[in-house]
Parts: sequence; C-alpha cells; structure tokens
Amino acid sequence: VRDTRQARTIREILEQHGEPVTAPEVHSYAMALVPGIGIATVYRHLHHLTVAGEIARVELPGQPCRFERAGKPHHHHFVCQGCQRVFDLMGCLGDLRSLVPDGFEVIKHDLTVYGHCRRCAAENAGTRVGV
Ligand SMILES: [Zn+2]
Ligand SMILES: [Zn+2]
Repeated sequence: VRDTRQARTIREILEQHGEPVTAPEVHSYAMALVPGIGIATVYRHLHHLTVAGEIARVELPGQPCRFERAGKPHHHHFVCQGCQRVFDLMGCLGDLRSLVPDGFEVIKHDLTVYGHCRRCAAENAGTRVGV
C-alpha cells in the first residue's frame, strides 16, 4: 500500500511537471511529499511506471535520462545550455519524408533544439551590458 502511494506520488509529480525531469529532480520533489523517500525507491518506481507505459523516458544525446508523463501529443525538446533544463516544443516542422532518399521508409523522428531559455537569455544579455 505504501508502495502504491509512492508510485502515485511519482506519477503525479510528472503529470504536474510539464517538462521532462531527471530522477534526482523527481526525488527532490518527492521528498517534499513523501518524507524520507530514497533515491533508489524513486528509480525503482520510475522503472516500473515506464514499463507499465504510465510515464515515458526522454533520452537526449549527452544528457541524463529524463521522464515525462506518457501520452503527450507528438512534440520535440529544447535543451537550455545555460540551466540544462529541458522544455517541450509543441508542434512540428511537419513531414520530414522529403529529406529522405527515394525508396526509404520513415518510421519516426526526434528533433532536439539547443539554446538558452528566456531566463538564461536575459541573464546573458544582462552580463553583456554589465548589469
Ligand atoms: Zn535556462
Ligand atoms: Zn516532429
């Protein structure tokens, strides 16, 4: 029963959090809700929830594995090079089949955009003007 509550808490954290989060981030949110919950427990529930299809893994090159709620519509990710947070980009450039040679079959695509989020972009601008 305790396990179920922990699993539900972790699923709720991902549902309330729009953007993909790492296991240590989930752990820090979970500790506020379930005092004393260990990181190994968080990893275990993340694994089980992923296998059950209730949450989805987000694997980006050179990044720690993140998790997000399952069932989001097709979307892509933006990695902030300042704070390392990952944001969802809703929408898509559309059909990428025109990039692919004749006779090739496209199954899916991933698109990751790198840059600075609004806050980090503003901080960079502030640094430049000496604020
Ligand atoms: Zn940022
Ligand atoms: Zn797309």
